[in-house]
Amino acid sequence: MRKVRQLSFRKFVGTLVAFLIFMIVSILVFFYCVQRKAEKNVTLEIMKNVERQGYHFELIINLQYGYLEGLADYIGQQEELVTEDTLRLMEDLKKKCNLEYIIVYDKDGQGTYDNGEHGSGADKEYFRKAAGGARALSDPVVSPIDGETRIVLGVPIRSNGEIRGVLGGAFSVDALKQILFQSAYDGEGFSVIVKEDGSIVYQEDSKNYKGLVPEDNFFEYYEKLWLYDDGRITDVSEDFRNRKSGYVKVRDDGKVRYLVYASLGLSDWKFCYIVPVKKAEGAYSFIRFYEVILSVVLFLGIAVLFAFVWWENFKRQRELLASARTDDLTGACNKKRTEDEIGEWMDSAPPDMLQAFLMLDIDEFKKVNDKYGHAAGDEALRKVGLLLRREFRDVDIIGRVGGDEFVVLMKNVSQMDIVTQRADCLCRSAAQVEISGAPDCRITLSIGIACAPENGRSYRELYKRADRALYRSKENGRNRYTVYGTERD
Ligand code: GH3
Ligand code: MG
Repeated sequence: MRKVRQLSFRKFVGTLVAFLIFMIVSILVFFYCVQRKAEKNVTLEIMKNVERQGYHFELIINLQYGYLEGLADYIGQQEELVTEDTLRLMEDLKKKCNLEYIIVYDKDGQGTYDNGEHGSGADKEYFRKAAGGARALSDPVVSPIDGETRIVLGVPIRSNGEIRGVLGGAFSVDALKQILFQSAYDGEGFSVIVKEDGSIVYQEDSKNYKGLVPEDNFFEYYEKLWLYDDGRITDVSEDFRNRKSGYVKVRDDGKVRYLVYASLGLSDWKFCYIVPVKKAEGAYSFIRFYEVILSVVLFLGIAVLFAFVWWENFKRQRELLASARTDDLTGACNKKRTEDEIGEWMDSAPPDMLQAFLMLDIDEFKKVNDKYGHAAGDEALRKVGLLLRREFRDVDIIGRVGGDEFVVLMKNVSQMDIVTQRADCLCRSAAQVEISGAPDCRITLSIGIACAPENGRSYRELYKRADRALYRSKENGRNRYTVYGTERD
């Protein structure tokens, strides 16, 4: 029976553990999905910003082209490309557009600056492109004179559809910075403009970053780093070629960072934004906080559930054990439990305290059965059990050790008188027990008493002596008690 119960408990714990595993896996999947969603939102947000900055940049450059083209139209209509008048207009436009200088080239590349100085543009890529009839944008050039890095916009000067020269306007990359790079994410993110071949056009200063430098090749640098989620730098360069936006997650300069990129739409420049993941996901850090709270609450809930189940099972096991060791009819301990409990108590009982062992037997009980039937006999036994439980303390041990034979161990009794008074009281109370349906049925008890430590310290010894005393009570006419040693054996 116990085995069956243990098995079902094990089955229950197994189910609970399976449920727990299922719940933990579900929660982990949930946390993973929330995390992915947050990551997606964050990267989308950065990408949107990057694209917005890109549009903004194009708009500003196109505006500059517009101004330059307006002046180029005017110059194209003049007899001479360089006159006092055009130089004055160039000077005005330079101030208006925050340009570093404006230069007008003839079609051979001989140029005149707005301040009247001369220079050659024949070997310059942007001059050749603009002289071919297109808008042109130079790579950043470091001036050997003042060390400033500049970018030059070039537009053709036309007259009656024929190209007569090129008008160029230069602005410092510092101006680029003002146009593009707003300090986002508390200055922990920074921007880089990269060409399709990986050369860096411009890199914003960042005091919190010591990885990529303007002299590096963008692809060669990132090729050496660890990219998360199976990201590959070759895919980034392919996106660059296809003018697609995107992002990768990369461990760079000791931190996990997002590298988000978008095409600028002007020449082959790409705009990249690099920001630490932690900083970028700052707005979603509350999710982590709630995840921790949820985990703690769940863990505590499960711990309480386990403790509750364990306690309930423990209580049930104890009850089962107790009921298996209790006599159903009388509510007293069964023989085995009586022996065990008295034995255990005697092993640890204070040696100088009196322990009274009483043995009780219903007198001529066979006759009760014979005359009034077994049901009446059973009721008599039940009522004797009740009587014993009422007459003795909860700490005392009451057991039914035979058909009509009971045992009581009175623990730590202060004096013998109490024991004899109790035995006497019992004899009188038993005589008053009434059996339903048998009004003239009267029962009496014979009692034998042995005491520890005087008559022994074990169950066996006390039982033997109390039994002898009981025998004396029977011999002397029943319905009485006898204390071992007070009568002749
Ligand atoms: P004595 O005074 O010498 O004790 O005589 P007695 O008739 O009581 O003799 P004994 O104690 O040997 O008899 C016990 C009887 O108890 C025998 C049996 O029929 C009866 N008995 C044992 N168990 C039960 C029970 O569970 N129910 C009932 N009704 N009778 C029982
Ligand atoms: Mg009897």
